[in-house]
Amino acid sequence: MIARRRFLSAALIGLTVKAERRIPGGFVNDSFPLGHRLRDHAKFQTAARQEKYPVVIIGGGMAGLSAAWRLLKRNFHDFVLLEMEPQPGGNSRWGENEITAYPWAAHYVPVPGPRAALVRELFEDLGVLRDGVWDERRLCFAPQERLFIHGRWQEGIEPEADSTSRDREDYRRFQDMVNEFRATGQFTIPMRLGARESELDRLSMQEWLARNRFTSPYLSWYVNYACRDDYGALARDTSAWAGIHYFASREPEEKGPLTWPEGNGWIVRRLMERLQRYIRVNTPVYSIVREGTRLRIRSEQADFIAEKVIFAAPTFLAPYLIEGAPRVDFVYSPWLTANLTIEHSPEDVAWDNVIYDSPALGYVDAMHMSLKTFIDRSVWTFYWSLCDRPPADARALLLEKDWTYWREAILNDLSRAHPDIRRRVSRIDIMRIGHAMSRPVPGFLKSRLDFKNRGPIFFANSDLSGFSIFEEAQEHGIKAADRALASGV
Ligand SMILES: Cc1cc2nc3c(=O)[nH]c(=O)nc-3n(C[C@H](O)[C@H](O)[C@H](O)COP(=O)(O)OP(=O)(O)OC[C@H]3O[C@@H](n4cnc5c(N)ncnc54)[C@H](O)[C@@H]3O)c2cc1C
Repeated sequence: MIARRRFLSAALIGLTVKAERRIPGGFVNDSFPLGHRLRDHAKFQTAARQEKYPVVIIGGGMAGLSAAWRLLKRNFHDFVLLEMEPQPGGNSRWGENEITAYPWAAHYVPVPGPRAALVRELFEDLGVLRDGVWDERRLCFAPQERLFIHGRWQEGIEPEADSTSRDREDYRRFQDMVNEFRATGQFTIPMRLGARESELDRLSMQEWLARNRFTSPYLSWYVNYACRDDYGALARDTSAWAGIHYFASREPEEKGPLTWPEGNGWIVRRLMERLQRYIRVNTPVYSIVREGTRLRIRSEQADFIAEKVIFAAPTFLAPYLIEGAPRVDFVYSPWLTANLTIEHSPEDVAWDNVIYDSPALGYVDAMHMSLKTFIDRSVWTFYWSLCDRPPADARALLLEKDWTYWREAILNDLSRAHPDIRRRVSRIDIMRIGHAMSRPVPGFLKSRLDFKNRGPIFFANSDLSGFSIFEEAQEHGIKAADRALASGV
């Protein structure tokens, strides 16, 4: 009740101040006009030029870049990577202003465990891991996470303030069950190492909590937060297998995560330094057809003739682009992210700042990893997975509402914890991502284990795992590169 009163008064404060100051900004990186043209099989201009490569990679997100990295490591140079946007990176894109670089979406990688060999190999290559020691400058500084609950900030995001002994008993029992699941060896990163068909995939995470008589509203919030944050979905729409994977796949960490001001854009930048000459930006592929044993890949810039294709664009696009490709039943979550230029940063900001009872996910501070002793200006990246309604309805809402609507929604949300937010912000840019990440709905695991990836088009997007994290994108990119090489090019 207190929280509700505070929220209302905060919203009113916001409205008065808003009348005095205009906060500029706009939508950035909109990709849906092109996406809709692909979906509607719109007419594209035929290219006059033709080029030949044994391997063509489509999509320059983390999966496509990882495929390219692997090809180079295998001493294979005869390939090209086609990216539709002006900037590679996909969900690991970044931006920069006069204050700092900042992420547009992916912003961290948990410190990889000993079994995540490929992730460790990449970080050794990039100098983040040297002789088994992680570069301290890349390990998230304290304070890492905080939660605004009942009118004040607490450290960590597991709700503690005013928790009862029943809440704490549920936390403990949940943790014990997670530890048992971890010990089965089925919940691994990469997922391929341990995943197999499971009864858990037949129910939602919410049903699993109910069946196991978890009643704590705090635990329910926490599990829902985890599903919203990693999968863009509520616990009721998430497979229990995936919900448990979130908690059981990682060792309780002492250190980390690995993070940079521009988030995982830092990794993209380092990869681009090596891969620049293989990458063609502004090159959307609109069709892939077979011609005998070869493939013709069409873009408006050129036609590419290839023996093998690594398809690292989202897999749902395949039926729209590839002749004869079957439809996949993958579900995708829509997201909205925003970068707020902060002129007067509060002193106590953590890296990740979450507001209890908010429909959004909070914000990450881009200046957190700065070594400066005094920080007044910063950029906050605000995250919001629109999961309260079916994805198609949320996508429609995302497009229907204008930038002012979303700006107000973001400011009102932040004013719960920062009543003076409108005085602190000088700009808000917003990115809308209709099919942002694959959603692990009940049944997803079976559909992924059944997915055939035979070539000559090798699929590689992170959505092949059913959930989207850096490690899975890298894994699929590398595996697709290995398969393309093994199939003889
Ligand atoms: C808001 C948000 C926050 C996230 N935060 C994290 C995080 O902190 N840590 C983490 O590990 N993961 C995070 N993720 C998950 C993230 O999706 C993965 O880490 C990873 O970046 C996915 O890479 P990908 O290559 O599989 O897919 P994408 O990033 O989707 O890349 C696909 C690429 O294909 C291109 N493309 C599409 N169609 C075509 C076409 N027709 N022709 C040519 N190119 C095309 C796209 O432009 C894009 O560059 C986040 C995701 C979102 C949405």
